[in-house]
Amino acid sequence: MSDQVLPPGLTQSDFNDAVAELKAVVGERWVFTENDQLKGYRDAYSIMQGDPADPIPSVAVAPANTEEVQKAVVIANKYEIPFWVISTGKNLGYGGAAPKETGMMTLDLNRMNGIEINEKQAYAVVEPGVSYFDLFNHIQEKGYKLWIDVASPGWGSVLGNTVERGVGYTPFSDHFANQCGMEVVLPDGEIYRTGMGANSSAETWHNYKYGFGPTLDGLFTQSNLGVVTKIGVWLMPEPPCFRTGYIMMQKPEDIIPMVDIMRPLRQSGVIDNTASIFAGTMDLFRIPDIRDKLLDPNNPPSQEQVSAWLREHNVGFWYNRIGVYGYEKTVDYHWEQIMDEHASVPGVEFVSRKHSAPYDYAAMHVDDKLQCGAPSLEEWVFMLPIQGDLFYSPVVPFDGQTMWELIQYMEATFNELGAIYNLPTFISPSPRTLLATLPFPTFKNNAEANAQIRSVMNEVIKRTGARGWGEYRTPLAFMDQVMETYDFNDHAHRRINERIKDALDPNGVMAPGKNGIYPKNRRTKIEGEGQS
Ligand code: ADP
Repeated sequence: MSDQVLPPGLTQSDFNDAVAELKAVVGERWVFTENDQLKGYRDAYSIMQGDPADPIPSVAVAPANTEEVQKAVVIANKYEIPFWVISTGKNLGYGGAAPKETGMMTLDLNRMNGIEINEKQAYAVVEPGVSYFDLFNHIQEKGYKLWIDVASPGWGSVLGNTVERGVGYTPFSDHFANQCGMEVVLPDGEIYRTGMGANSSAETWHNYKYGFGPTLDGLFTQSNLGVVTKIGVWLMPEPPCFRTGYIMMQKPEDIIPMVDIMRPLRQSGVIDNTASIFAGTMDLFRIPDIRDKLLDPNNPPSQEQVSAWLREHNVGFWYNRIGVYGYEKTVDYHWEQIMDEHASVPGVEFVSRKHSAPYDYAAMHVDDKLQCGAPSLEEWVFMLPIQGDLFYSPVVPFDGQTMWELIQYMEATFNELGAIYNLPTFISPSPRTLLATLPFPTFKNNAEANAQIRSVMNEVIKRTGARGWGEYRTPLAFMDQVMETYDFNDHAHRRINERIKDALDPNGVMAPGKNGIYPKNRRTKIEGEGQS
């Protein structure tokens, strides 16, 4: 352990004692301190690569159950070791398995992989280590007629994605909206259950969200207020039929009718899944020569060149991928209706594929798998040549003109800052919101390029935050900057969260700095209370 990093402020001898206590709780083989072991607890796509501050933990601990989590948290408090929690640690593009700062202890919950299904009430109860593949396979093996909603790619944790408020592609795509009931180990080691779970005899912990009094589930999402050890997840009854439809449009400004025609269809439920708007360039990534040019940091292709490739390869400038679900007649009727609504746009084209139960998931196109919650890694395979990426993800209203403004604004800003610009993808987990996602490349052996991307990203966050487009989620390196943009009433949002943080985590051990919220002992100034 000689070249081991230590938790901040801890002596080697105290660290050794803490490690010994952790081993006594979880077993020697589930405590990792060797550098080779800890490499797996870094972010393979980190934008900090090449910088000495690229985070690595001092120790990783893998408890087997809630009781062991609780004991590990008590040890972290005793030695005041800051800890970071991961479920499966696949959060690529937003931080991977890495802690926010070097020296933290990583609590790796991958071993906790319990699954319970209630078929009649259509829900699952999952522990943190349950991946989308695990849950899907379990349901298939048992023959339940239930669908999960999967984030792409499918190796991530159902619970981890839900607590980060991730999104999938079926009508159950808003993962936090479809979560019901949590078990949480609070930062001081107390166990808490949300909603009806507060009643120790509850029969409806995973049926009814709210319980009695304030409902606190949201406190444990994108937060550092508790280690979530179990959640209920509502599942979609398998429909008899579904159709994946593509609506393709030819010109950049067609994003305006594409969004405005979709909005009422989405609001009325005719399109009832996360419709996703992609640039045709996403398809160009599947063509190796072009992909290499699109990813060349030294010679980014001009917009004219990209348009020429789109024409040459007969890909629409934009395509909207939607899903329609239900009885076959309804599905067919809704698809006709959707095509009719779009027919007035010059050059519009449609493609669709229909599937009926019993479904042959393995034979489906990767897009159709996503649309019915069958996990896959295929969507990421064509991105393999990239060294890494991170996502910039502002929330925008469901409005065509605003989308067009955002696209032009982004292009102008990226050009001004000398950064590679890729068109955003837009997804609609709710009929009133589009989440835009712009990927930035990250590099394994180019610290200078990573530093430049960090400065561009910081500037983009600042400018678009001031424009009113806050981000819904961000990689670790930008959490402080994004929180800074949530500035109403002199950052009342941050201040109230700091007060809750201090109450629930008096030693400030759980994930200090996550989402820009620091405990008292890490803040230089507490608004309204003077110095701490
Ligand atoms: P996934 O593998 O599904 O992408 P991760 O395990 O990487 O998800 O977790 C993503 C982030 O969510 C972590 O960095 C952490 O901040 C938070 N997180 C994950 N699991 C938990 C948990 N059980 N309790 C609290 N926060 C968690």
